Amino acid sequence: YKFKAGLEKSREKFQNEINELMARYRTVDEDFFEALEEVLISADVGFNTVMELTDELRQEARVKNITETADLRETIVEKMVEIYERNDDLPETVNMQEDELTVILVVGVNGVGKTTSIGKLAHKYRQEGKSVMLAAGDTFRAGAINQLQIWGDRVGVDVIRQAEGSDPAAVMFDAVNAAKKRNADVLICDTAGRLQNKGNLMNELSKIKKVIQKVVPSAPHESLLVLDATTGQNALSQAKAFKEVTDVSGIILTKLDGTAKGGIVLAIKNELGIPVKFVGLGEQLDDLQEFSAENYVYGLFA
Ligand code: GDP
Repeated sequence: YKFKAGLEKSREKFQNEINELMARYRTVDEDFFEALEEVLISADVGFNTVMELTDELRQEARVKNITETADLRETIVEKMVEIYERNDDLPETVNMQEDELTVILVVGVNGVGKTTSIGKLAHKYRQEGKSVMLAAGDTFRAGAINQLQIWGDRVGVDVIRQAEGSDPAAVMFDAVNAAKKRNADVLICDTAGRLQNKGNLMNELSKIKKVIQKVVPSAPHESLLVLDATTGQNALSQAKAFKEVTDVSGIILTKLDGTAKGGIVLAIKNELGIPVKFVGLGEQLDDLQEFSAENYVYGLFA
């Protein structure tokens, strides 16, 4: 239900475009298929998916002798879901450790909803009965540590922090040691997201990883990149840039409720091969949902 509500704007836009298309092209012919391809491509469905879809639709129309576009309407959505399920082998869930501390690094530029997402994620794991700690690794941005502390207090989890300007790797070393000592289940680590200086960011993140691995060799178990869905193509280029500086294992896509460009999830998967693991569908604590391709594609198109 949440998924469907959060995708309302995107769904409306898509449905309006399909309605217009069906009104303009009443007979199933090549003009219709080409116009359909344009609509789907502009909805960020992804070129290959669009081609696969329209090829199969052409065939289906021929075999079943469907001549009116209105009769293809249902099939378009069904096929789209089918194609995504067929082609989607990216892991959607977080790589949670059973008997060990799970370390989750969170990266992303300022303003995308990184702190909020960390708070929501901590809340989600708390709700599941896990013990959670936060590491205030964004020591660069003024106020970032306090902002994370506010979320920690709200959710009721400890935040390991040092003074602003201190070495993020030192904060992480403290945090991962503290989390181990206290037998925590999950440590969620905030990091600075300075894409302006890629070299620095790359060094900083690799240093953080090394330090964490001294304590938990299999960590980090996830490196989640936070992207703002309302920024469309900009989000895509951020993802590309982060992929160059570090391994990104999944994406938290925020503010999906505030955009009609919900197709960005599909674009990220298609173009970058990075799975979206969580989506932000509002500003409240429980507005972070685990991603499900099926719910998503239905929410978007059906
Ligand atoms: P940061 O600078 O990346 O840490 O960004 P913040 O976590 O401070 O979030 C920036 C703004 O985006 C805040 O006003 C949040 O309430 C808002 N925000 C974050 N996630 C979502 C979301 O999923 N939906 C909506 N509507 N707003 C969000």
